[in-house]
Amino acid sequence: MELKTDLYIDGAWVKGNGTIPVIDPSTGSAICEVATAGDSECEAAISAAHRAFPSWAKTAPRVRSEILRKAFEIMVAESDHLAKIVSMENGKVLTDAKGEIAYAAEFFRWFAEEAVRTPGDFRSSPSGDKRILVTHQPIGVSLLITPWNFPAAMATRKIGPAIAAGCTMILKPATETPLTALWIVDILHRAGLPKGVINLVLPSKTGAMISKMLHDPRVRNLSFTGSTEVGRTLLKESADLVLRTSMELGGNAPFVVLDDADIDQAVAGAMIAKMRNGGAACTAANRFIVANKVAAEFTTKFTAAMGALKVAPGLDAGAQLGASVSLKERNKIAELVDAAVAAGGELKLGGKTPDGVGAFYPATVISVKKENPILRNEVFGPVAPIVTFDTDEEAIALANDTEYGLISYVYSSDLKRAIRTAEALEAGMVAINRGVISDPAAPFGGVKQSGLGREGGFVGIHEFLETKYIGVEI
Ligand code: NAP
Repeated sequence: MELKTDLYIDGAWVKGNGTIPVIDPSTGSAICEVATAGDSECEAAISAAHRAFPSWAKTAPRVRSEILRKAFEIMVAESDHLAKIVSMENGKVLTDAKGEIAYAAEFFRWFAEEAVRTPGDFRSSPSGDKRILVTHQPIGVSLLITPWNFPAAMATRKIGPAIAAGCTMILKPATETPLTALWIVDILHRAGLPKGVINLVLPSKTGAMISKMLHDPRVRNLSFTGSTEVGRTLLKESADLVLRTSMELGGNAPFVVLDDADIDQAVAGAMIAKMRNGGAACTAANRFIVANKVAAEFTTKFTAAMGALKVAPGLDAGAQLGASVSLKERNKIAELVDAAVAAGGELKLGGKTPDGVGAFYPATVISVKKENPILRNEVFGPVAPIVTFDTDEEAIALANDTEYGLISYVYSSDLKRAIRTAEALEAGMVAINRGVISDPAAPFGGVKQSGLGREGGFVGIHEFLETKYIGVEI
């Protein structure tokens, strides 16, 4: 299988200061070795992005748009190949990987369209003494840091708007999943992106080398997707040079089933909201908050659907739940479930770490009280805790009882009641009677400790633009 394994700096594939293996989590064996970057490669990437910036910022939006459109077309044409890479290095099943590639490619198409539509403003000042001209300019060299759970989509959701805006960039993918990002960078290379506009490094010492990059005055913007814990550290690091930052962080999504919900529809939605990506999604439903009146029916039907999933290596035919990205991540899931059981949780399904190779964990349903510690933590796996309530107010209070605020799900047959509930939920996004709402055309992002800023939609490009006001004497 063809793979890219070198670093990409200044339009060329280069060796780094060493290599590390990329592990297939379904088997525990190495897929290949990829190059790692030392300080000199990180420095070369910043220099290349800095050199390329002035001419890229002035490149006509139409030219930037057409490169993105071409990249979209190549990505769609190569989607089967890319989906296999994603599945192999991440562990997710092929159907999820294909879904991710389709979603990821859409960010290139959407931002190809947005590149030529950046709005400005021109008007008279209230006193009439001048004209107020407002324009938007690319911020400059941007550092893009992405996680392992959506190695394609989390990269294109940043690269697309950065290219559209006229920024140059350095992409740093997660150490577990660099192969997808390397292939996407190669697609951009073949689509005609000028040298230096995108550079990819995989630092051999992530924390120390990223910190050094964030203290280089040529870097002006940080766009990060990952855990809240690392986001907090990077916000502190970014404060020293007052960088622009965009933070897409962790979630602990409530899935609220009101007593008038269509239970079959809620179970179908729950399966998507919980099990897309094997539960390893920032948007994954993690706390099932179900009205007492319908709890027995929901739990029985949902447990049956979870129990019917075929657990197998991601590339196996018919696999519906693949491996976690690593044994370390799988063991974290197991520890959270064990602690939930020790705190009085009642297992309805799963909950036992399987023997044998591969980072597998079974689909698990657990009935808990509202004090159970599992409701406090982001479970990045196929685990569904269910807690019950009597009144809508109680459901809203339970849903909001978290430091996170990325997405919430609400099921009700009464749209007015669902919207009232949605408005009371502390979340950047709310899904009503749907198990998935991510869309490149919609603003994605969280409130509270789930992040700062939005990706996608009409606002996504503004994470890579500065607003400039020019006052004109008349
Ligand atoms: P993570 O541990 O925070 O890592 C994310 C990225 O940050 C990786 O590239 C990682 O590099 C890098 N990193 C780690 N420590 C760093 C440091 N000290 N300085 C600079 N960079 C550092 O998160 P993850 O485990 O990959 O991903 C899961 C998390 O991402 C979950 O919390 C999930 O909710 C969140 N997420 C959020 C969204 C969203 O849109 N809100 C989307 C997807 C995922 P290494 O791999 O080299 O450590």
